[in-house]
Amino acid sequence: MKISVDDLQAYLAERYGSWATEQGLFMKLVEELGEVAEVLNKRAGRKASDENDLQEQLGIELADMIHYIVAIAAINNIDLTTLMLEKDKKASVKYRHATNLETFLSERK
Ligand SMILES: [Mg+2]
Repeated sequence: MKISVDDLQAYLAERYGSWATEQGLFMKLVEELGEVAEVLNKRAGRKASDENDLQEQLGIELADMIHYIVAIAAINNIDLTTLMLEKDKKASVKYRHATNLETFLSERK
C-alpha cells in the first residue's frame, strides 16, 4: 500500500486534531530525532549495540519522525504537499537544478 503526504496528514489531523498541542508533538519529534541519532551512532560504532537489524531500526525511527512532523502540520492546517512542491521549485531555481519535484513526478507517471 502506498500513502501520500495528504493521506497521512488527513489521518493525523483526525487522530490529534482535537487534543494535541504543537508543543507536545514537537517534544515527541525531538525524542524521535534522538532515537535516529542513537541508531546512527550504533551503525558508526560510536555506541555499543546488541540489535541485529539497525537498518530496520533506522527506518522505524525515521518513520516516527515523519509521523510527528506531519502531525504538527496537520493540527495547524498546513498544506505540506503544496508547500513542499513550492519550496522544491524555488530551491531548484536557486541552486540551478536540472529538474524539480513537480516535473519529476509528472514525468514519472
Ligand atoms: Mg521511535
